[in-house]
Amino acid sequence: MRVIANHALCQGHARCEDLCPEVFATDAVEGKVVIADPNVPEALEAKVRLAVRNCPEGALRVARSQEED
Ligand code: SF4
Repeated sequence: MRVIANHALCQGHARCEDLCPEVFATDAVEGKVVIADPNVPEALEAKVRLAVRNCPEGALRVARSQEED
């Protein structure tokens, strides 16, 4: 599974980081989400899906591993 961010929509609330800091961070300068590695380990898939559902801007989505951004 991959997770993809739309930076045009992201408002930098860091809710995703609160829910899954293993995958999401927030750029202090840009105020946008940072995803160091979009390939989500199986053990973190549930947390990432929770973060995606809780993004108030709809800026996150999950994709199959093979899918391009
Ligand atoms: S919760 Fe959504 S809008 Fe907020 S920082 Fe994360 S991706 Fe961006």
